[in-house]
Amino acid sequence: MTTEPLILCENLVKIYKLDEIEIIALQGLDLTVQPGEVMSLVGSSGSGKTTLLNVLGGLDRPAAGRLVVAGNDLLKMTDRDLDDYRRRYVGFVWQQKARNLIPYLNVEQNVELPMIMSGIAPRERRAWSSELIEAVRLGHRRHHRLAQLSGGEQQRVAIAIALANRPALLLGDEPTGELDSATAEVIFDIFHQLNRTYGLTVVIVSHDPQIARFVDRVVAIRDGKTSSETIRRTETDEATDAAGASVPVFEELVMLDSAGRLQVPKEIRERYGIGDRMRLEETPDGLLLRPVAGGEFTVPAKRLTEPDEPPAERPRGVRRWFAGLRRPR
Ligand code: ADP
Ligand code: MG
Repeated sequence: MTTEPLILCENLVKIYKLDEIEIIALQGLDLTVQPGEVMSLVGSSGSGKTTLLNVLGGLDRPAAGRLVVAGNDLLKMTDRDLDDYRRRYVGFVWQQKARNLIPYLNVEQNVELPMIMSGIAPRERRAWSSELIEAVRLGHRRHHRLAQLSGGEQQRVAIAIALANRPALLLGDEPTGELDSATAEVIFDIFHQLNRTYGLTVVIVSHDPQIARFVDRVVAIRDGKTSSETIRRTETDEATDAAGASVPVFEELVMLDSAGRLQVPKEIRERYGIGDRMRLEETPDGLLLRPVAGGEFTVPAKRLTEPDEPPAERPRGVRRWFAGLRRPR
């Protein structure tokens, strides 16, 4: 693709410091998202999905790496620029609908509220809010208070609110996590429609492995790095089911990071008895990863404290690691 990506993450690092320990939530993450994509981020709990979304949306700052969204270099921005970026470029939808909604206002008032706060003139406000309410298929509910709506309908109001400031990017953190699958399907259909109508780019965090059916691309995150990508193939050679209807074909690809490194998941390393070395062989069909004879899984489990070292005056976590690198041996 020749277009400039909407999102470019290179080697992103995010560290949370809790007084005694440092948690590396993003460990050099690479990701590119093209404008107009509807894509999903999946991964087990604690893999760094929410952290990445917060960083993409300018709610949190990475410690290192490169992050450019719609031409904005987020690591170089002042706090004020970052506030401005968040308002102008990003809309958020959360799993907890209440985070975006005011229960005693009706649908129309809820959608207009952020526009009032942005100083949009009343006439434009009316027009845009009623267009958005139609787009999320709630035209017949516009004068209902939030309490009179179902969970799925409330989440659709939240989507309309997220788009009030006409962002280029919609970020959703498990937005269908509390909804049944039929309701979730309607929400995904609305995301696609918004994508087609407004060119909106949509990034949805999910833990549902079935998500690939609803988006163009799924990127899996593992231990704070992107590890694999599933793409829906739309070629003409789509498979057909027993009834002859065409079913989409999915292809999962392993991702290499910007330095060409490959992540082999722990389950696979354990299954093949791979420790911290393996053999790479060139074969007529491609590259083969082979466990080393006698190799065993020796990578130690993560330790939060190191009991035999005195805790004082030692930099911990990543800082300790860097300090170790610099120390002459
Ligand atoms: P996910 O959304 O994939 O479940 P998160 O991004 O929430 O994962 O978390 C990634 C890692 O960072 C986890 O180990 C989590 O415990 C840690 N973490 C997330 N938020 C914070 C925080 N505010 N303070 C400290 N650690 C955090
Ligand atoms: Mg999360």
